[in-house]
Amino acid sequence: MVRKYLISHRSPDTDTICSAIVYGNFLRRKFGYDVEVCRLGDLNNETKFVLERFNLEVPNLVTELEEGSEIILMDHNEAKQSINNIENYKIVQIIDHHKFNLTTKDPLFIRAEPIGSTCSIVAKMFFENGMEISKNEAGALISAIISDTLYFRSPTTTKEDIDLVKKLNEIVGIDDLERYSLELFDRKSDLGDISVEELIRMDYKEFNLNGKKIGIGVMETTNPNFALSRKDEIVSKLKEIKENDGLDLVFLSIIDILEERNITIYPDEESNRILAKAFSVDLGSNGLIDLKRIISRKKQIVPKLEETW
Ligand code: MG
Ligand code: MG
Ligand code: MG
Repeated sequence: MVRKYLISHRSPDTDTICSAIVYGNFLRRKFGYDVEVCRLGDLNNETKFVLERFNLEVPNLVTELEEGSEIILMDHNEAKQSINNIENYKIVQIIDHHKFNLTTKDPLFIRAEPIGSTCSIVAKMFFENGMEISKNEAGALISAIISDTLYFRSPTTTKEDIDLVKKLNEIVGIDDLERYSLELFDRKSDLGDISVEELIRMDYKEFNLNGKKIGIGVMETTNPNFALSRKDEIVSKLKEIKENDGLDLVFLSIIDILEERNITIYPDEESNRILAKAFSVDLGSNGLIDLKRIISRKKQIVPKLEETW
């Protein structure tokens, strides 16, 4: 049987990694597929913590596969967010909860839902098929749903996500989910000795919106000062990235998870004006603009930019 490679997105987060691992197990158990889970970059501290806690293997770091390999995209569908030279491979499946922006050469299996996380979709597939979920798998799925929805604070959250966490927790038995979510956010926020470029690219996605190339970094944190205190360095690095990557717009949104607030760092006055207009807020100053309660890149930031710019 031809091996299938589960591809998690660049700047991997807990949802893309956990969904790839657990969906890989689903395919093995249900269809007997030969699958390999791949990551395209370093894991963040939150994801490392989750894999350790639930005893799951760190996926292999992959930069290239044999030409014509069958790949499954997890938690993304845009070429820019995926493996290099994606056109050399055969996309056989996509499991995702983002807007779509792709054309494919071949027919494929797609499962996409407007739901809080890709792990919610994976959990549903297990339940729909009457398949058992192990304690560790359920723990990974719960962690990713909490992480992607910011423990149900994000406007991407649906009632299904909340119900799925309840149902999965019957298997895992975490006694205080609120406390567990704070533990996850602490890991998410614990960036230690990180370079400014890593900080920007930790949760970074590139988009093509109305022919414009946009790079959006998001830092979800309980400690916004970690990034805000390095604002000047971040502004310079954003200028450099804009220039080198040929972007029309690039910025880093610092999302205070607990306060549900967004302070965004921008590189230049042109970006300041675009952001103020798109989000109907006052112009920023000194590289900082207050985007108020805009906390979801997928559901708020990207659609607003697409609509008004
Ligand atoms: Mg993701
Ligand atoms: Mg996701
Ligand atoms: Mg996210």
